[in-house]
Amino acid sequence: MKLPAYKMLKYIADWFLPNRCPICNKLIPWDKYVCRNCDKKLKVISDELCPVCAKDKCKNHADLKFDAAVSLFDYKDTAKDGIYALKYHDGTNFGEYAAKLLAAILRKRGIAEQIDVVTCVPMSRDKLKKRHRNHSAVIAGALAMFLNKPFDDKLLVHLSSDIVHHHLKAEQRAENAAISFEVFKGHKDIRSKTILICDDVYTTGSTFNSCCTILRSMGANKVFAVSAATTLLDKVNEEHCNGSDES
Ligand SMILES: [Zn+2]
Ligand SMILES: [Zn+2]
Repeated sequence: MKLPAYKMLKYIADWFLPNRCPICNKLIPWDKYVCRNCDKKLKVISDELCPVCAKDKCKNHADLKFDAAVSLFDYKDTAKDGIYALKYHDGTNFGEYAAKLLAAILRKRGIAEQIDVVTCVPMSRDKLKKRHRNHSAVIAGALAMFLNKPFDDKLLVHLSSDIVHHHLKAEQRAENAAISFEVFKGHKDIRSKTILICDDVYTTGSTFNSCCTILRSMGANKVFAVSAATTLLDKVNEEHCNGSDES
């Protein structure tokens, strides 16, 4: 959807279902995504993170299958509540809020102008049935709109799995992620294109690595990975069982 049409829709929707902060449920003006109080609590840490791996302590860059990653928030407190609302409640406002902030950073870093297509980490069919929408697609779709780039969520598919990913250890996770995705049959040609892939939370990077490997095998020239939140590396060991790249 183009930005003017989206704004018009949001304005009209507010008459019927007043706009609310997805985190604290307070009424907010039609053109806002979160309330002033939650906005103050959501501290963007992108500039404090490595511009390549988007972590506080660098991961081995040689292991990364993406050209660079960008993330907004430390995955805790209000940011965690926002992502929870996006996943389990009608928290699309939080996805759009994150997308708007990500778009500004991508422009500032000169990444936005390189992007040809925006896509998202796909969700398994089982999970999609339960949750009715892919929360990563909410962020990705809004990001494509703010950047005025095409959005294509039919590049990758998630192979359904009964394994609950966030209960796995890091090594098992990497292994599981590697077998979780495949090429979407009949996808558009992305040879020589620069792809931006979006997820809600970036933890070990196994999901991004797995998706980016496939996107490259499809001919993508460059791949950038963006997420609303990242887990800081000094906390990964203690928190990786709670956080998730995928769920
Ligand atoms: Zn609020
Ligand atoms: Zn780094």
